Amino acid sequence: MFQNEMHLSFSGLSQNESFARMAVAAFATQLNPTIEELTDIRTAVSEAVTNAIVHGYESHGGTVYMDCYIKDRMFEVIVRDEGRGIEDVALAMQPFYTSMPNLERSGMGFSVMQAFMDTLHVSSSPGKGTTVSMKKLIPAVSGDE
Ligand code: ATP
Ligand code: MG
Repeated sequence: MFQNEMHLSFSGLSQNESFARMAVAAFATQLNPTIEELTDIRTAVSEAVTNAIVHGYESHGGTVYMDCYIKDRMFEVIVRDEGRGIEDVALAMQPFYTSMPNLERSGMGFSVMQAFMDTLHVSSSPGKGTTVSMKKLIPAVSGDE
């Protein structure tokens, strides 16, 4: 089985949202994804990283961790923070649920991650932090070895 991995940690600043998106895309490129598959991964990672920064660390900074794994053609990305955590994960994952309704949040971040990735798993402990794991299969297209 082919395996590869990449681990990053960066300050939870909004300036690093685009960095995280680009870094994950750069790593995923070796699977020769379509533009659409790459956009899906970038968008999902953006949502998870933004959540870590604005909700996990409440925009006060802290370290965001991103771990990527490739196993054959399965791409996995795990975004983790050590921030405030989520009391009720099932509620937080409901479409349109947001704890910040007056801050232009639509409550669609988890729905976007769910729609664009094959699997989404969220675990969280209040006061300790949140881990979001997402997987997406990138099928080979003709021309890939
Ligand atoms: P949007 O993503 O559409 O701007 P949102 O961030 O509120 O709005 P979701 O991304 O779906 O919506 O997240 C739903 C809720 O889950 C958030 O409002 C927040 O309360 C909680 N949440 C999500 N991620 C985290 C996290 N990393 N740490 C703490 N709470 C989180
Ligand atoms: Mg969000």
